[in-house]
Amino acid sequence: MRKPLLLRTSFGKEEIEAAKKVLSSGILSDFIGNAGEKFLGGKYVKGLEAAYCRKFNVKYAVAMSSAATALHAAIAALGIGPGDEVILPPITMSATATAILLNNAVPVFADIEKETICIDPQSIEDKITKRTKAIMVVALYGQGANLPKIMKIAKKYRLRVIEDNAQSPGAKIGKDFVGTIGDVGIFSLNCHKVINCGEGGVLVTNNARIAYRAQLVRNHGEVVLDDLKDRDTVIFGTNYRLTELQAAVAIEQFKKLDFLNNWRIELADYLTSKLRNFKGIILPDTKPGFTHVYYQYPMRFIKKEVGIKRQTFAKALRAEGFPLGEGWVQPLYFFPIYQRGTIYKEKINCPFECKYYDGKVDYRKGLCPAAEDLCNKELMLTGICAWPLTKKHIDLFVTAIKKIFDNLEELKLYERKTKKC
Ligand SMILES: *Cc1c(COP(=O)(O)O)cnc(C)c1O
Repeated sequence: MRKPLLLRTSFGKEEIEAAKKVLSSGILSDFIGNAGEKFLGGKYVKGLEAAYCRKFNVKYAVAMSSAATALHAAIAALGIGPGDEVILPPITMSATATAILLNNAVPVFADIEKETICIDPQSIEDKITKRTKAIMVVALYGQGANLPKIMKIAKKYRLRVIEDNAQSPGAKIGKDFVGTIGDVGIFSLNCHKVINCGEGGVLVTNNARIAYRAQLVRNHGEVVLDDLKDRDTVIFGTNYRLTELQAAVAIEQFKKLDFLNNWRIELADYLTSKLRNFKGIILPDTKPGFTHVYYQYPMRFIKKEVGIKRQTFAKALRAEGFPLGEGWVQPLYFFPIYQRGTIYKEKINCPFECKYYDGKVDYRKGLCPAAEDLCNKELMLTGICAWPLTKKHIDLFVTAIKKIFDNLEELKLYERKTKKC
């Protein structure tokens, strides 16, 4: 058995020097919750925001304490609240949906397209009601959803589009960066993402009003409305601020984004070329014009064609030293908060049942068949296509897969034996 591969972070002397500089300055955060210059943070926070604006060609960037808080700020900035519905896919991180619940709006789950694993435009259209205010689109594992179609639907029904792009910074559709196509997009700087500063997030938009409102949410906005002579804006905030220390590290990480993405793309393309001939393993499907940045390398396992269970396949691969994700999260509506309909306290079902909400939630199992099927039976994920791993590691991975395919009869026998006892 090979030792499992451990991935290293991409921190180098640049991040360490940047952090030291901030520590020596003594100013670890430079926000003040009053109207004035420091309402918008210190020089590293502003520097990080400027870097996002330049790179992604957007007018406004607002650094946040995480992508999860940035998602909530986006919901609040759009004025989405009690009685409103937001459509989103069920295969995503829990925070995509809880951002909606935090403003007492109702998440409505639309199914996914199996080919891209992202939200299915047709299913979105089927779920639109008079209560729908926005579509939350998630770019999963490094590839954008079918945004050209989704933007058309949004226009037709006058809906806002929020892009959860925590996983796919640098992904593109045509010339446009994913995360900048909808009304507002968010990025993550969490330690598990392609680039990180421990925890952090960035919200981007071309809409001045959305940016302003997000800034208010980030820094106790209710406090400054009087000073800004803005008594009409309905909003309140909390503390979603990024520190100078985090921002300084994030600025250095952000400079490495293209390098890290290109590394991933090269390894992923190489892996795809090596896996083409294994029957029953469906490789990532990149639509024409879409740039995939391979936060993960997703594959679909077709049991009928391979002849063994996904579980057996994954176990055998693990024994060769290559961990493999079987599925990822369960479809979010399986979680108890949706099944029981309680998020605040026992017997209170707000916002799923509430005097402002005249819809009826539907979170039964079977709601999104493609998503459920994909999670339970088909999806396999590997993080092997990432710096500092090389084609040599990919070759070992492919050799391990080949070994499994060479021993399918034995594995079938193993399945039959383990079933009996
Ligand atoms: C990681 C992730 C988030 C949350 O990011 P944080 O920065 O950890 O809050 C949100 N959505 C998706 C799809 C993610 O993968």
